[in-house]
Amino acid sequence: MNKSDIEIAQEAKMKPISEIAEQLDLHVDEWEPHGHYKAKLSLDVLKRLDSKPSGKVVLVTAISPTPAGEGKSTVSVGLGQALNRIGKKTIIALREPSLGPSMGIKGGAAGGGYSQVIPMEDINLHFTGDLHAITSAHNALSALLDNHIHQGNELQIDTRRVVWKRVLDLNDRALRNVVVGLGGPVQGVPREDGFDITVASEIMAILCLSKDINDLKHRLSKMVVAYNYSKEPVTVADLGVQGALALLLKDAIKPNLVQTLENTPALIHGGPFANIAHGCNSVMATRMASKLGDYVVTEAGFGADLGAEKFFDIKTRAGDIEPAATVIVATARALKMHGGVAKNQLTEENVGALERGMANLEKHVETIRTFGVPFVVGINRFNSDSEQEIQFILDWCAERNIEVALSEVWAKGGAGGEELANKVVELVENGTNTFEPIYDVSLPIIEKIETIARKVYGASGIELSPKAKRQISEFDKAGWNNLPICMAKTQYSLSDDPSKLGRPEGFIISIREFRPSIGAGFIVALTGTVMTMPGLPKKPAALNMDVTEDGKAIGLF
Ligand code: ADP
Repeated sequence: MNKSDIEIAQEAKMKPISEIAEQLDLHVDEWEPHGHYKAKLSLDVLKRLDSKPSGKVVLVTAISPTPAGEGKSTVSVGLGQALNRIGKKTIIALREPSLGPSMGIKGGAAGGGYSQVIPMEDINLHFTGDLHAITSAHNALSALLDNHIHQGNELQIDTRRVVWKRVLDLNDRALRNVVVGLGGPVQGVPREDGFDITVASEIMAILCLSKDINDLKHRLSKMVVAYNYSKEPVTVADLGVQGALALLLKDAIKPNLVQTLENTPALIHGGPFANIAHGCNSVMATRMASKLGDYVVTEAGFGADLGAEKFFDIKTRAGDIEPAATVIVATARALKMHGGVAKNQLTEENVGALERGMANLEKHVETIRTFGVPFVVGINRFNSDSEQEIQFILDWCAERNIEVALSEVWAKGGAGGEELANKVVELVENGTNTFEPIYDVSLPIIEKIETIARKVYGASGIELSPKAKRQISEFDKAGWNNLPICMAKTQYSLSDDPSKLGRPEGFIISIREFRPSIGAGFIVALTGTVMTMPGLPKKPAALNMDVTEDGKAIGLF
């Protein structure tokens, strides 16, 4: 029987983090140990290595995922290990997991099988406290805002138009809507409020897009928290608390250094939602990894229509990052699902369905081509995939001159990813790279969305609700029109309807409303309702969790 992810992780021979830091030639004062196997890296590293040429950034993205996740993190970790095996000094840059989903649905966010980052219990639980710091900064702002209203409300904040909710790093549906300030005049001013999960906080997105602490402070100051009685935006700068918030984040902005099962260095830092935010680890971690290594392997959430598009159109602009190559992860399972197979029949061979499902991969391939970044399709092999299915995908790609490599990093670690690693190196060294974001930020909001919808989703057009139309003219007045767009769309379909799998055509993308994330520096376009405080399932993963007398985690994954 296969070992579980946590069993494999607990058997790993970890090196003390000091050895990993030495491997990266970090100066003694540039890293602070957090226990034996984790460290925080000082942003001084970026200053010291500023003039050093950056390493090559390889983005791992995927086809439209199935509910199980298609193994982007697993392939990212495995590819990083494989690149090291073939002699390229490589560092992995990934997102930090959130506690909410860990307690809810089985499945970690630290890779899987023989391609994991460790210590996985720590990474999946409290890690180095970054999410707690973000929660504290976020809720400190809530407290300061409510206090401002209580103490006379000089800014004339309309308590019915406070848009800054509170946050918690748990899935807790009972907190989605609450009333605060009950109990009489000395307990504050009663108003409706609610909780989001911490990773949905704009502060998380800001932390991930900031280049340094000054940029962080500047972005924090621009966040819109409410509207006044004249319907004008009230910002953090109006409350004058950006300094306090930045202070609470002074350690959280330092990237976290850990290692993989094969002792490849990994920076795990920041993890914003991939719908109402951009779904990538921090700019600081990616940049630092590119200064410390020759190659960086990083990932973006969901499929290429969301993750890669936002990486290319939002993150590269914020962080001056040049993508050198892209890996599009595909699995036979997900392709079969796109070809019409039900979730409970994915382990049965079905080449016909696979053939139909290839249309989904085809669209993502076209998208990456549109961005001009050289790419390779990485087939993440599952034990249940048949030889015929794998061969079909290989042939399909070969017939179209699409680079493809089989990845067996889940089962074999870095050794199972050498073919993919060699292809990536070939693309980086000899591929044609004409990368450019697909829209100019100075275009009108509507045109930016239309470009994404047509070029990336394959839509025939967009339509806006009356509210969205009204908001566009308000945003024009507020001077918020020169920002990139962050699309909040279902990850399961290229369209905005999760039931339309494969490669839907002739569909319209409907924009319900916008949310200004001015501090993060983008406008969120919502195509449907987006859950920013998830609930727990009927049988939460927490039911299988325990801890032994000597502190060993059980049932985490
Ligand atoms: P994503 O990053 O796309 O969400 P992950 O890499 O986190 O996906 O993988 C999701 C889950 O699937 C993990 O539990 C991982 O162990 C498992 N997984 C990934 N690849 C494979 C594979 N090739 N075979 C079996 N399980 C896999």
